[in-house]
Amino acid sequence: MDEVKRIVLNQETDEDRVTSISLRPERLSDFIGQKDLVANIRVAVDAAKQRQEPLEHMLFSGPPGLGKTSLAHIISHEMNSRITVTSGPAIERAGDFIGILTNLEAGDILFIDEIHRMSKTVEEFLYPAMESFKIDFVVDKGPYAKTINFNLKPFTLIGATTRSGLLASPLRDRFGIFHHLDFYEPADLAKIIMNAARKLGVTLDNEAAALIAARARGTPRIAIRLLKRSRDFAQVETGKSAIEPKIVSLAMERLKIDSQGLDEFDRKILRVILENYNGGPVGIEALSATLNEESDTIADVVEPYLLKIGFLRRTSRGREVTEKARQHLLIP
Ligand code: ADP
Repeated sequence: MDEVKRIVLNQETDEDRVTSISLRPERLSDFIGQKDLVANIRVAVDAAKQRQEPLEHMLFSGPPGLGKTSLAHIISHEMNSRITVTSGPAIERAGDFIGILTNLEAGDILFIDEIHRMSKTVEEFLYPAMESFKIDFVVDKGPYAKTINFNLKPFTLIGATTRSGLLASPLRDRFGIFHHLDFYEPADLAKIIMNAARKLGVTLDNEAAALIAARARGTPRIAIRLLKRSRDFAQVETGKSAIEPKIVSLAMERLKIDSQGLDEFDRKILRVILENYNGGPVGIEALSATLNEESDTIADVVEPYLLKIGFLRRTSRGREVTEKARQHLLIP
């Protein structure tokens, strides 16, 4: 179950991290899909370059694996600037953060992934840093306490979050540019798969790419992972580097990924709601207790795609399984 679960979950694994370095698009022109967003970033980048100013702070929101980190790297590349990468949970103390901020040069990009998971103290440091490139910190206690002001170089903060709803509004308001990334269309995923296959040195035809794209849950990270698993099957079953459609079908069958890209865990969630809760509505906490899975994982990673394809419905009283999902699972 764990192995299967990992395959279609959009959270990053160590293997993804290694391949994503070589497969990551470098330029905006290599970034497939999300056309409006790419066009808007292009304008912002060109305008900042013409004015010779740093870019405005940018916030990317959307489910994991849709290209938020890739975009931050692309922007640093397009702006010819350095990038420092960190994440909300990684910055534990305000002291760590002061170090990061004071090391930034003019025009540098600071990318903070999972910015909604930053601690409140660290977040409060960020406000003056974002707004006026200043930080104030207090040294010593009681009568000896002194506030030290520090001027920072003008930098660009790029934040990424899977849940913009969890972001405090003072933080959200300090971003000049806000972009939401949505799930990709199968045609765009097929292009991403074709490009990745070329870089990995394997061949596959349009039909095989379309089969993978249909099961990739609108997510490039999953598309690339399924491509790599299909490559393994091609190598072992046929001894060739060409991935034929029948090999993709075989791989998906073995990995228990169905025609909609659902795995055993998705089907289990739907079945639990149908069988234990009479189809819903059921609250996320109850569901998380029954499934023994963190409610955040359900809300961030599993649920968005089920909502997107119309298998789940969110109501004020909880989650409900739809008729479409019943038919897919063939449950009356
Ligand atoms: P996120 O930060 O949103 O979780 P990443 O930027 O790490 O997602 O992207 C996950 C993987 O998908 C990376 O390997 C990246 O190369 C690939 N990818 C994402 N979006 C695209 C895209 N539009 N075009 C090509 N590859 C993409």
